[in-house]
Order: sequence, then C-alpha cells, then structure tokens
Amino acid sequence: MTQVIRNLLDRPGSANISPFQRVATQAGALEDRVAALTDLPRPAMDDLAEFCAVAREASRRTLDMRPFDVQLVGALALLSGQVAEMATGEGKTLSGAIAAAGFALRGTPVHVISVNDYLARRDAEWMGPLYEALGVSVGWIGQSSTPEERREAYAKDVMYASVSEIGFDVLRDRVATDPAAVIVPEPSVALIDEADSVLVDEARVPLVLAGAADPGADAPETAELVRRLSRGYHYELDDQALNVYLTAKGTDAVERALGGINLYETPEVLTRVNLALHAHALLTRDVDYLVRDGRIQLVSQSRGRVATLQRWPDGLQAAVEAKEALPASETGEILDSITVQGLIRRYPKLCGMTGTAVAVEEQLREFYGLKVAVIPPNTPCVRTDEPDRLFGTVADKERALATEIADVHATGRPILIGTLDVSESERLADDLRARDLDCVVLNAKNDAEEAAIISRAGERAVITVSTQMAGRGTDIRLGEGVAELGGLYVIGSGRHASSRLDDQLRGRAGRQGDPGGSVFLVSLEDDLITQYAPGEALPAAGDDGVVRHKRAGYVVGHAQRVAEGAHLEIHRNTWRYTRLLERQRDLVLAQREKVLRGDAAGEALAAAAPERWSELSDLVGEDVLQAAAREIVLFHLDRCWTEHLGFMSDVREGIHLRALGHKLKPIDEFNREGTAAYRHLLDEVELRSVETFRTAPITADGMDPLEAGLKRPTATWTYLVQDNPFGSSVDRLLKRLSPRTRRRQDLD
Ligand code: ADP
Repeated sequence: MTQVIRNLLDRPGSANISPFQRVATQAGALEDRVAALTDLPRPAMDDLAEFCAVAREASRRTLDMRPFDVQLVGALALLSGQVAEMATGEGKTLSGAIAAAGFALRGTPVHVISVNDYLARRDAEWMGPLYEALGVSVGWIGQSSTPEERREAYAKDVMYASVSEIGFDVLRDRVATDPAAVIVPEPSVALIDEADSVLVDEARVPLVLAGAADPGADAPETAELVRRLSRGYHYELDDQALNVYLTAKGTDAVERALGGINLYETPEVLTRVNLALHAHALLTRDVDYLVRDGRIQLVSQSRGRVATLQRWPDGLQAAVEAKEALPASETGEILDSITVQGLIRRYPKLCGMTGTAVAVEEQLREFYGLKVAVIPPNTPCVRTDEPDRLFGTVADKERALATEIADVHATGRPILIGTLDVSESERLADDLRARDLDCVVLNAKNDAEEAAIISRAGERAVITVSTQMAGRGTDIRLGEGVAELGGLYVIGSGRHASSRLDDQLRGRAGRQGDPGGSVFLVSLEDDLITQYAPGEALPAAGDDGVVRHKRAGYVVGHAQRVAEGAHLEIHRNTWRYTRLLERQRDLVLAQREKVLRGDAAGEALAAAAPERWSELSDLVGEDVLQAAAREIVLFHLDRCWTEHLGFMSDVREGIHLRALGHKLKPIDEFNREGTAAYRHLLDEVELRSVETFRTAPITADGMDPLEAGLKRPTATWTYLVQDNPFGSSVDRLLKRLSPRTRRRQDLD
C-alpha cells in the first residue's frame, strides 16, 4: 500500500484495525481444532491467531462466554498499545482480560487500572478462572488491603486496582527507609479501564502524601467578613462564573474591616480573602460539595458523585469548612505528590479501553502518545437518539421532564434519568414522589450498592434517577417484555460540559443491539449555556416554554465546544507546571535508590568527612556506620524534597506577580526559579547530611534518629486533591489581581 493511501485510511490519531480483524478471522479458522483439545496448550505469543483461539476456548470453558470477533479485535488493539473504543455493553471486561493475559504470557506484568475498588475486585474475581486456564496469576487490591496483601497482589502477573491505590502505594514507597518495605515493583504495562476519564478528566488530579499537622486559624473570621460583602458591589464574577474578584469598593471595605491594611502589600491576607470569596461565591453546597457527618464531601465534577478520598487544596478546603462553620480538618505538610498523569506516564507501555475515546484523540496523542482504535459493535446499535428538546427556562424544562417521565412510565417502559448534580437528583425525586411516581435515587451510596441498583434499571416500570456516572461499569439488562416497550429510555436533564459525558449517559441504553432511546432536555438557563455562551443571542421560547429556533441547537453545541476547549487549555497549562517537578522528582528518586539500596551515602560522607568516618569506623564497625549514613542522607533527601515542593508551590502561587515584575512569561519564570532551587536542593542535602554526621551520636548499637535530630512525621496520610476542574483556584485568583496592583508593579 502506498503511503498516500495508508494516510487516507489511517486518520491521524486513529489506528487501522484491519490487521487485527485478519487475526480474528484466522483465530476463527482454528476454533474447532482448539475446541477438540482436552487440555489447552499455553499459547505461543508469536502467533496471535493461536493465542486468540486458545483464549476464546478458555473463556468459553471457564466463563461460559465465547468472545466475539470484535472482542478479540479489541484485545489485539490493547496488546499493541492502543486505546480501544468499544461501546458500553460490548464486553470490555473480557477483552481487557484477554489482552492482560497476552501481556503476561509475553512475560510483562500488567496493572489493570479500574474505576474503583469495587470494580477492581469484581473484575479480578470474575475473570479469575480465565486467567487460571491460561496459566496466568491474578490479584487485586483495595483501600483496606494490608501491606502484605498488597505485596502479594503486586507479585501476580496481572493485578487489578484503582489509580489512587497504586498512586498512594507509590508515594509511600518513595519515603521508605528500608528496601524491604518497598511494595510497588518497577512499572511495566498499564491497561486502563475508562481510559478517557483517567487519562484526560482526572489527569491533573494530584495524589498527595502528607504528614504532621498545623491547622490554619484565620479562616473563620475571613469567612464571616466575606459573608457581609455583596455581589455586584463588593465583588464580581466573570462571564463564565469561574473567577471572582474584589471591586475597588470591595477592596476598600475589606481593607477597612481588617484595620486599614493594604491588601496588595500583604499577599497572604489577600490570598486568604480571595480563597474565602471563592468558597463563598463560586462553590455551592449540594452542587460542588455536600455537608455530611460534620464534614465537607466533595462532589466530583467528572463523575457527579461524592468523591470520598478527595479534598481541595488546603487553603480552599479550610475556607469552605469555615464557610459552613465546620471545625478545620487536619491539614498537613505535603511530603510528596504525583499527578494521575505523572503516575500513568511511569509505565513504559500503556493501553486502555473506553466507550468514548475518539473525542479526546488529540489529548491522548499529545499527553501519552496513544492512538485510538475504533472497534465496531458486535451487533449494530439500534437505539433512537432524539434531538435535544430546548426550553427557555429551567422551570419549564423541569416541568417538561416530570411530564415526560410520567407519560413514558405509564407505558411500563423503564427510565433512567441522568442529572447534572446531586441537588437536582433530589429535587427531581421529590417532584416525582409528589406525583406518586416511585423512583430510586442513586448518588452518594457505595459502589457495590450502586452497582446492584443500576443493574435493575432495565426492569419493567422502574424509574432510576442518577447523577452522571453513578454505578458505572455495571451492565443494564432489559427485564421481561421490556424490549417490546422500546427498551430502556435514557433522559438527560441537561447537556454536560463534555460531549463524552453525554455519550456515556446515552450508552446506558441500547447495549448489544437492544432497543432503547435517549433524549436530552436543555434549558437556555443551564450553567453550560450561561457560562460558556454568555454573549450569544438566544432565540425566544414559545408560549409553551419550548424553543424551536434552529439557532438554539447551535448555541448548545457551541457552549459545549467552548467548555471542552477551556478544559484542554487548563490541562495543558497544569502539565506545563507539573512537568518540571516530576522530572526533578525522578532525578532525586534515582539518587535515593542508590542511597537506599547501596553504599552511596557512606561513600559520600566518608569523602566529605574522612576523619570522622575513620574514627567512627574503628569504633562501631563498617556495617553500623553504613546504616547510619543511609538513614542520615535519606532523611535529609526527603526533608529537602518536601521543602522544595513547598517552596515551588509558593513560587507557583506568586508566579503571576513575579512574572509581572520580570516581564517574563509565568511558566518561564517558574522554570527558572525551579531549576535554580533544584540545584540548591542537592547542595543542601549534602550540607545538612555532613552536619548531622559530624554531630550525631553513633554507637556500636547504631544511631537513634531522634537523638540525631532526624524527626520524621509521626503519622502520614494520603488523599486526592480535587482541583477545581477549571484550573487551580490560586491561578485564577492571581490572574484576577486588580489593575491597581499592576500599576504599582509597573511603577516599581
Ligand atoms: P462493558 O464494560 O463493555 O460495558 P461488560 O464487560 O460489563 O461491558 O460486559 C457486558 C455484559 O456482556 C456482561 O454482562 C457480560 O457478561 C456480557 N458479555 C461480554 N462478553 C460476552 C460474550 N462474548 N458472550 C456473552 N456475554 C458476554
């Protein structure tokens, strides 16, 4: 084939699947022969058709599922390191398991990254017999797994776990002082389920290891102060309601209330005020977070459900707690952190599967060098996707929604309603109950319970109200007689900020050639429109509240594209900032490895303080001395890294100010500061280590770290930071500095 034709067939970013289809056909030709064998052979991985035929037979015998050709094609795409786009219900779990077994048989261990702990365990156990038949060992971990269980699971050929469990293990390993305590082996292959959500939507989320505690104290007063300010007078929101900033009047009022200070000369107070304002004006209870059991629980934007392990960056977390008059939760010093993207990029080989990959092809290629392979469905999809129904106001939309539900329910057809947030689910449920319509509401329950409920959403006359992705990964089968009624009917109560989320909701209906339908009800007052298409001329609604003008549909699509573009820009920007730190972290960790597993610390200290070394060596012996040296250098290496992170986070918060001063681009300024600080870091480690080595009491029994002044945090804990999906709050605060500051900077 000439290059020109190849280029035509092979869209940039999209992979050509015809070679995989040929292999699947060849596997079909081997099927009868393999089925006649009593004992299945261990397939040779240099013959993919044989591998597919054996895997198919193993699946048939152990799971009672004969993989369809398209599932083999999907598995082959994964094996060649691509993202397989397969619609909901096409059987990604099985495709993924076949691919994982293939990697394992090639001799490379695989981490299957699941959406949550419940699915990690479910899939590992469900696919267990298939792996066993292929001679591949499998394990899983969850939040409550002990270190021993984890070590055992990581030793398996294939291991299922959520991204946060692996990330937290990696972070804990990075501060291990004993090589025997290290849990996570060298990364090899990651096979990522719901790949778009992990690789794109959650890519920027930092996983954090924190230690020690020092709660901030001024948040409650600032919250009280901010509560007295009025919008439009003291502060303004920008068009997209992503930023809030003080007006000149607001600045004056705050400065007076704080005893006549100058806000712009006290940046820490300004930051605190801005955080409080952000918590007050931009974060809404029951939309962005819930208050439960005296705690703030974040609602994940991409999943529309409570994100139990997540918190905001410390300052914002404290500001929201103060807003809700809750006691400040424990805050700590960040010992180390890694973004989801950084974690995933550790794996030399990646592949993934999801129902919606094409829409993020560009990001997958840019950030991970991944191509998307579009796998056709086994049975063509016959779901009817109706055009959006548009309304002028939210009230009209909600009325129409309830009526639509009542009408369809009267026929016995099951309905699944996807809402945009928790408070909307609850409002709708109340509305339906007032009309005597029974419904199940799914939002913040645990994953296993949600899975059980959502699996019944296809039964006759069932109404299920669910936020975005509650219960995802669970199959919805149609009940008796439901196909005749048209199958599951999915209603979206508004378009999401990304078309992928709309498609995921639609995909709940019409799986495996089932009948089904979907429709979205949209109002021109929805956040999506008011935030992302604020300047657009909107057509008027008719007397019945329905908007019929063609232009309305355009505005909705436009708002969604603007939102998607904004997300991508923020993703790029965050990555620009994290890349430098992640590269530096790799370098420091390489040094750390040499110290942890060798005598690098001893060599360095012996060279820096030869007299002390030989004196001690005679006194306590070489082994004791080496161990003490290791402990000293590890301590200072970890300590200096923590300080470096803290310093760089301050630099980042102040970067816009500094950049203004130096007339540099903020990112260049950040990199300049970061590079200089890193050079200083290694010198500092050496300086402090030598200092400790000269003074620490070291005896034949070893060295007491406390006596040597090496105090590590007594407790550590891990969490995910929920950065606002629209960028770090601090970034936005600083972007919004009033013109006053700029003028002052220019005069300097
Ligand atoms: P996805 O993750 O792609 O939405 P799942 O892996 O949850 O899909 O599978 C959907 C359903 O299809 C499951 O109930 C599974 O048992 C069934 N299934 C998958 N593959 C096959 C097959 N080859 N034959 C029969 N049933 C299958």
